[in-house]
Amino acid sequence: MSLSGKTAVVTGSNSGIGLGVARELARAGADVVLNSFTDRKEDHDLAAEVAAEFGVNARYVKADMSKGAECRALIEAAGACDILVNNAGIQHVSPIEDFPQDKWDAIIAINMNSVFHTTAAALPGMRERGWGRIVNIASAHGLTASPYKAAYVAAKHGVVGMTKTVALETAQDPITCNAICPGYVLTPLVEAQIPDTMREYNMDRDTVVKEIMLARQPSKEFATVEQLGGTTVFLCSDAAAQITGTTISVDGGWTAL
Ligand code: NAD
Repeated sequence: MSLSGKTAVVTGSNSGIGLGVARELARAGADVVLNSFTDRKEDHDLAAEVAAEFGVNARYVKADMSKGAECRALIEAAGACDILVNNAGIQHVSPIEDFPQDKWDAIIAINMNSVFHTTAAALPGMRERGWGRIVNIASAHGLTASPYKAAYVAAKHGVVGMTKTVALETAQDPITCNAICPGYVLTPLVEAQIPDTMREYNMDRDTVVKEIMLARQPSKEFATVEQLGGTTVFLCSDAAAQITGTTISVDGGWTAL
């Protein structure tokens, strides 16, 4: 599968799943635009590393996905956006009656509203060039709920709904729009929580991972960022040209329960 000649924009891609997805798209030959809201030397270095490793063009563009105008400016700055991966996301956990308004607003803005703005900005160019792939990184929480995650669950269900609407609006164009719904993924952020949880529960690493972190993931294995990148590359392939408006769970069986 070669994505050579295509440009991919991956929001929130200076770490975790976004970076993993950008790397797999680059491995498949796509030029990539990395993004986050910071503008550090490390961010630009990451893009240079991806370019050197995979022999593609890669650059980093700062844009804050909590702001509609910056979402749209990111697409503009990319020049072409053939593949749009909406990945940027944050989390906050609290009972709904104590849920801080600013956290609610930030989660809805970054996790859901940004998908509206980048998609609206990217579609005209995709239509003009006659090809496009939109991949929204939703979550198992786009299909099911957990307590204390009202904003996250609302935003991710919103993304799944928007995915279906965009798929219908582009059904007769050579453009697809799908959502990937990961369960628990081993990112640096998740890895960093393991030692503290081991101490808190006085458990070894394996027990913490299987009994606490992956309590709802029947496989008892984390998904990896490479697997999410591979799923994204598949959705960009010709084999997936008639897959649109759907969700693909990469969750070790979570949503089968
Ligand atoms: P992460 O914290 O490593 O990555 C989040 C990315 O979003 C980072 O690059 C961060 O810089 C960026 N970001 C945050 N706020 C931003 C903003 N205002 N503007 C631009 N970028 C911003 O987390 P992750 O686990 O890699 O999560 C990536 C996506 O995957 C999120 O949408 C998350 O909801 C989803 N997800 C993660 C898991 C998991 O287990 N890790 C499971 C299901 C879904």
